[in-house]
Amino acid sequence: MIDKFNRDINYARISITDACNLRCLYCMPNGYVAKHYNFLSKEEIKNIVVALSKLGVKRIRITGGEPLIREDIIEVIKCINEVEGIEDIGITTNGILLGEKISELVKYGLKRVNISLDTLREDRFITLTGGDLKKVIDGLNKAIDLGLIVKVNMIPIKGINDDEIEDFIEMTKNTNLDVRFIELMPIGEGTKFKGITKDDIMKYFKGANIVKVENNGGGPSEVYRLDGHAGRVGFITTMSHSFCDRCNRIRITSDGKLKTCLHNRDEYDLRPYINDNNKLIDVLKYGIYNKYEKHTLLEDKISKSSRDMVRTGG
Ligand code: SAM
Ligand code: SF4
Repeated sequence: MIDKFNRDINYARISITDACNLRCLYCMPNGYVAKHYNFLSKEEIKNIVVALSKLGVKRIRITGGEPLIREDIIEVIKCINEVEGIEDIGITTNGILLGEKISELVKYGLKRVNISLDTLREDRFITLTGGDLKKVIDGLNKAIDLGLIVKVNMIPIKGINDDEIEDFIEMTKNTNLDVRFIELMPIGEGTKFKGITKDDIMKYFKGANIVKVENNGGGPSEVYRLDGHAGRVGFITTMSHSFCDRCNRIRITSDGKLKTCLHNRDEYDLRPYINDNNKLIDVLKYGIYNKYEKHTLLEDKISKSSRDMVRTGG
């Protein structure tokens, strides 16, 4: 549907858990400290998706926390795939359990995978996340072999992993995947680190023949193709070049709140209406129509959200 600022809102990110099997330095360094375990059930998720699809949402991305730790993740994907009008289902994952689950996920309708990966060095991966990099690489390779659309999301952080930018660009040389550099946002634990901007990274392309990809599916990323590379390099420039004017998304938190902007306090509780499709549509419609024009991260230097990334669903 079209919001107050004439944006077509056709994409929803649904968080299905806040818990996670990793402990990323800038996200959840001490692991999941439970605020609740009352995560949306697969039936509740389906009701929300049915209502969203009636309002023109065509793409769903499942996120968390780590969505693949949900034991019913295959059924969650399956029931979203059954909803009329949903054309595309993706997942954002740390990739640890991807290798184990990817075949079943694809069988039941998964089309895209975004893998969050901030280092290609095994020892550094342990320091940054507490996990095993080999498992992530295995999942990534299987996703590519199965023909999924694969994006690797990397957050370059000063003094932590910014010496690996060229290695990540190199990943696009022989493999058809997108590596996307994401600017660290001042939210939760992220406030303790300093991110790198797109303009800093563009310096690494000096001399290379790069072409901006126009018509990149309407998403917020800026995408480039390097001459001779099978894959592409993209940027999510939340901090340096705001893309609020073309924002097409809303978020549903794992406890059933509609959040129309990642960096705003506004939330609409969907649970009281979860079994009443008409009322659910009304609340969603009101919230979506009144989606904020833009975030104020650049002025405030901090997110206004009362939730950190892991409780919103990144
Ligand atoms: N566990 C899954 C994963 O890591 O892909 C999904 C949830 S995670 C919260 C989603 C994304 O949020 C990850 O790509 C992570 O890097 C990103 N993220 C977490 N904190 C962030 C911050 N302060 N700024 C920008 N991105 C952040
Ligand atoms: Fe877990 Fe994702 Fe946060 Fe890392 S970024 S701690 S994988 S939720």
